[in-house]
Amino acid sequence: MKISCNIIKDLLPLYYDDICSNESRKLIEEHIKTCDDCKLELKKYDMKLEGVDSMNNEININEANMIKNISKKWKRDKKTSFLLGTTIVSIIASISSIIAYNAHGSYVAEDGRLVEMFAFIPLAFLFGLISVISIASLVVLSLIRYFGKQK
Ligand SMILES: [Zn+2]
Repeated sequence: MKISCNIIKDLLPLYYDDICSNESRKLIEEHIKTCDDCKLELKKYDMKLEGVDSMNNEININEANMIKNISKKWKRDKKTSFLLGTTIVSIIASISSIIAYNAHGSYVAEDGRLVEMFAFIPLAFLFGLISVISIASLVVLSLIRYFGKQK
């Protein structure tokens, strides 16, 4: 009778703990002789027991690294979202300054002076400048990240 690997793998824990019937034991030993896959599976039980301590240490180190990476990433993301927010806000402010300037229009006052909302022009330029600087910082930041990752 040919037993499937899945049945053997189900029985392996019992075999390893020495609580399976003699019949099952014989079946497993017979199968392992011809099946490297299941032999390897049985070896894993040995390795698991021996490696529990070192594996736990490894897990702790991995967890510590993961937390470190997450906090690092979070800090970087905070910087990015700050710059992104500044960019979006200043672009909107710049555009609305231009729109406000155009919407308000100009008119000639009674005394003959031309009245315009000139204040919106430097405002638009100022916000435009801020958005350019933010975009440049974002580009520089992502470039630093890109080349930092490649190392
Ligand atoms: Zn097998």
